[in-house]
Amino acid sequence: MKYEGAIYRPPSEANSLILQITVGCSHNRCTFCPSYKDKRFRIKTFQEIKEDIDEAAQFGWAIDKVFLADGDALIVPQPRLMEVIDYLKRKLPHLRRVGIYANAKGVLKKGTENLRELREAGLGIIYLGVESGDQVVLDRVKKGTTYEKLVQAGKMVKDAGIKLSVTVLLGVGGRDRSKEHAVATGRILTAMDPDYVGALSLIIVPGTPIYEEIEKGEFVLPTPFELIRELGIMIAHTDMHGLFFSNHASNYLPIKAAMPQDKESTLKLIHDVLAKRDPNFLRPDSLRAL
Ligand code: SF4
Repeated sequence: MKYEGAIYRPPSEANSLILQITVGCSHNRCTFCPSYKDKRFRIKTFQEIKEDIDEAAQFGWAIDKVFLADGDALIVPQPRLMEVIDYLKRKLPHLRRVGIYANAKGVLKKGTENLRELREAGLGIIYLGVESGDQVVLDRVKKGTTYEKLVQAGKMVKDAGIKLSVTVLLGVGGRDRSKEHAVATGRILTAMDPDYVGALSLIIVPGTPIYEEIEKGEFVLPTPFELIRELGIMIAHTDMHGLFFSNHASNYLPIKAAMPQDKESTLKLIHDVLAKRDPNFLRPDSLRAL
């Protein structure tokens, strides 16, 4: 497989074949995101993609899941995406699900009809980066979208019958906006009602704009217990019917809550952790990662 640069995938795609159909992210402006800063965005040619699929087909493994990278691969025009999925199905007879990263722009450009066509072809899950429901935070981190567009995109994915997995980012509002970020993110999750939510914690990476903001004292990262309090406020304001995870390696407190039934017990756990303030309950910084 001819991967260009570092490759990222959701934790739940750990057992999938990662097929890089784009290089980088077409937006690439979020101030906190180090993932694709060294890559110039491009869509790979079908020939390049085909060669990778042919190579994977020769592994001799029963590949049943494929994840399409990089950062917002859904931006690939519909005919090319259909061509890729059709070729995957031809070459990988055990294939049962294709997943992909997307941002709101990519979903809205597709529209419900194209998304339905992709679902019928085998696209089973879209991972949508939301980060925050707070417009002030979205603007500050240059997410390039709005609360309304994010909700519309989330609903469009679900209407097309594709599973919706949403990422939100603890700490991205900084200390000054922590509460507003948590409340508004709970509100947007309620409006979208995704199948899965993955809450990650912001890790500051040198070279990113947000790192420079910290250096200048313009952004202050919440402490570990403040991040857990933020998580609690977010969950308290979220009414959804899916799985809420915070088990990503970036988090201090891993949780997995089937909503709505686990909501109260999860809030109690968070309350107890905050009451005891015992650092032994937290994942050590040395084990945290992007
Ligand atoms: S967070 Fe997502 S949309 Fe923003 S720059 Fe990173 S990959 Fe692109």
